[in-house]
Amino acid sequence: MFKLIHTDKSTKARLGKLTTAHGEVDTPVFMPVGTQGTVKAISTEELKGLGAEIILGNAYHLYLRPGLDIIRKAGGLHKFMGWDKPILTDSGGYQIFSLATLRKLSDEGAEFSSHIDGSKHFITPEKAVDIQRIFGSDIMMILDECVHYPAARDYVEQSLELTTRWARRAKEYFSRPETIDHRPKTSMRQLLFGIVQGSTYLDLRKKAVDGLLKIGFDGYAIGGVSVGEPENLIHEVAEYTASLLPQDKARYLMGLGTPPDIIEAISNGVDMFDCVVPTRNGRNGQAFTWSGELQLRNAAYKEDLRPIDDKCECFACRNHTRAYIRHLFNTEELLGLRLVSLHNLHFYVKLIQLSRAAIREDRFGDFKEKFLSQYRKR
Ligand SMILES: [Zn+2]
Repeated sequence: MFKLIHTDKSTKARLGKLTTAHGEVDTPVFMPVGTQGTVKAISTEELKGLGAEIILGNAYHLYLRPGLDIIRKAGGLHKFMGWDKPILTDSGGYQIFSLATLRKLSDEGAEFSSHIDGSKHFITPEKAVDIQRIFGSDIMMILDECVHYPAARDYVEQSLELTTRWARRAKEYFSRPETIDHRPKTSMRQLLFGIVQGSTYLDLRKKAVDGLLKIGFDGYAIGGVSVGEPENLIHEVAEYTASLLPQDKARYLMGLGTPPDIIEAISNGVDMFDCVVPTRNGRNGQAFTWSGELQLRNAAYKEDLRPIDDKCECFACRNHTRAYIRHLFNTEELLGLRLVSLHNLHFYVKLIQLSRAAIREDRFGDFKEKFLSQYRKR
């Protein structure tokens, strides 16, 4: 359940509270990505230490490996991975269309071959709900078709109609009292979010929103962004779509992005984010700081005895230098990728915490302007 607490006076940025079966989450919020039931190289204790409030798991990956039986036996994904705070799971729609091979779409569902061993699978909107019920996800996503950019208008329109029909089936199935639910009966129910598609066609985005609002969901995600389109279109589509969504429901921009992307989207009224960038880029030595992006493997840092960011209070910055971290990457020591991942996640969490404070005090516009003017992209 989402409660809107305050809207910034100078932008559309919002402060809210999302209540789930595993606790409350303040929004805006950044969700570290734990695709395989782990935020790569980071323990759940470290995640809590840096202030992560909710993480994302991926239904497609976890359904294929380790599979539903072991997660059910473990008592759900929270117990299986040792994380007792909220989890949002993606339905797998995006991965079926980006990773799986030999996929065949029908009104009934999506048939595909696993990218791991070629085994055949068939996922329907109802099965995507069942899978996420077995996981015990606090927030489930509907099965959708994620269309890449560029896509012909006719195709997008047809795809959108399919996604809307799937959304209706998912909601109907989710609402049936006899649908399996493996969680203790005392906790609040799982939440189900709809996903707005429509590519870069604004009128189709509107049609998608109208279709989903008629069905009614606990929250709404803006999907199919950052799938190859130019940067200005990403924000135009996100801003327009966010403006169509109801005030009293959470808005989640899927799979975005860099720190400037997130700040831009917050100012457009988006509440929730997930992105692999802080960990994936961290494993390659790229650090995000208040002054911009650094590639710590560069020779320039060989004798640089400053921390990654002198304003940062993370474990890496309190204890280690750029020169040391460069040395770790140079010698392929695992600690290097862990330190930069930890720093990056800490930075994202801090960026969001300071954004919340700025919204609360009606100065998010100034905060955004100052942040963007100091931030240098590589
Ligand atoms: Zn740091």
